[in-house]
Amino acid sequence: MEESKFKSGFVSIVGKPNVGKSTLMNRLVGERLSIISPKAQTTRHRIMGILTGEDYQIVYSDTPGILEPSYSLHQAMMTYVKVSLEDADVILLVLDGNEKFDPVLFKRFQFTQTPLIVLLNKMEKVKKEEEQKIIAHWKEHLPNMASILSISALKGKNVDQVFPLIVKYLPVHPPYFPKDDFTNRSERFFAGEIIREKIFLNYQDEIPYSTEVSITAFKEGDDLIKIQAEIYIERNSQKGILIGKGGSSLKKVGTESRLDMEKFFGKKVFLETHVKVASNWRKESHKLRQFGYFE
Ligand code: GDP
Ligand code: MG
Repeated sequence: MEESKFKSGFVSIVGKPNVGKSTLMNRLVGERLSIISPKAQTTRHRIMGILTGEDYQIVYSDTPGILEPSYSLHQAMMTYVKVSLEDADVILLVLDGNEKFDPVLFKRFQFTQTPLIVLLNKMEKVKKEEEQKIIAHWKEHLPNMASILSISALKGKNVDQVFPLIVKYLPVHPPYFPKDDFTNRSERFFAGEIIREKIFLNYQDEIPYSTEVSITAFKEGDDLIKIQAEIYIERNSQKGILIGKGGSSLKKVGTESRLDMEKFFGKKVFLETHVKVASNWRKESHKLRQFGYFE
C-alpha cells in the first residue's frame, strides 16, 4: 500500500453512562482495554484503543458517560469527553436502543460538522418486528444523521458493520501511532483499572464511586510482575467495608484482579494492596491531579 493512500483518524465513542461504550470499544479493537460494570461512571478517563491494518489506523477513544457535572471528578471526566469530541474525525454516538429519544443529549450534536454514526445498542433484547419500529422512531428524530445502526456490543450483533462505515469517513493521513501500539495508556494504568473494575463489581452504594487506585510499583521480571497498589477511599469509616470481615472482601478483589492482570499482561503477577484514605478526593482538584486527572 502506498503511504499516500493510508487512512487514519480519531473515532470518539460517546454517550450517556452505562449504554455500553466500553463494551463496544473492546469489541471494536478486539482487546479488553476498558473496564466494564453494570454501574454508571465506571469509565473515568479517555482510553484509546488503536486498530491498525494494511492501509488504515483507527484510534478509538472510549470516554466517560455524558452527565451534568456535580463535583471536580465529573468535571475532569467531561473534559475528556470534550477533548475527545474536538479531536474526532468520526463520532460514534452510542444509545441504549430501548430508551426514548432525549432532545437534551442531541442538542450537543446539533451543529457538529463531524460525521456522526448513531449506534442503537443492547438491541439483542428486542424482537425483529419491534426492532424495525425502534429504528424508525430514531430515524424520525435524527434526519441529518450520517448513519444509524442497530447493534449489540455484548453479543457482537452488527458490530462488524461499524468498521466499513468508519473507514468511509477516515481522512487520508499517515498513522498517528506506531503500527504495533494498541493504546496510549501505560501498563500501570491498566493495572489500576483492573482493580477498580473488581471494586465496581464487588461493592455497592458509595464504595465504588469513593474509590481510586494508584499503582506505586510495577516491577517486571522475566516471568513475574510485582505490582503494588494503593486503594484510596474517601473516609476512614469506609475502610472496614472495603476490607471486609477478616480481610475477606479485599482478598477477593485482590485475587480477581491478579487473575485478570495475569491474562492481560501474559505473565504471573504478584499483587500487594494497601488501603488508604484521601479525604474528599473527588472534590479537590489538586488530589485529582495527583491521581492523573486533568492531563
Ligand atoms: P458504558 O458505561 O457506556 O461504558 O457501558 P459498559 O460498556 O460499561 O456497559 C454497561 C453495562 O451494559 C454492562 O453491564 C454491560 O455488560 C452492559 N451491556 C453493554 N452492551 C450491551 C448489549 O449490547 N446488550 C446488553 N444486554 N447489555 C450490554
Ligand atoms: Mg465505560
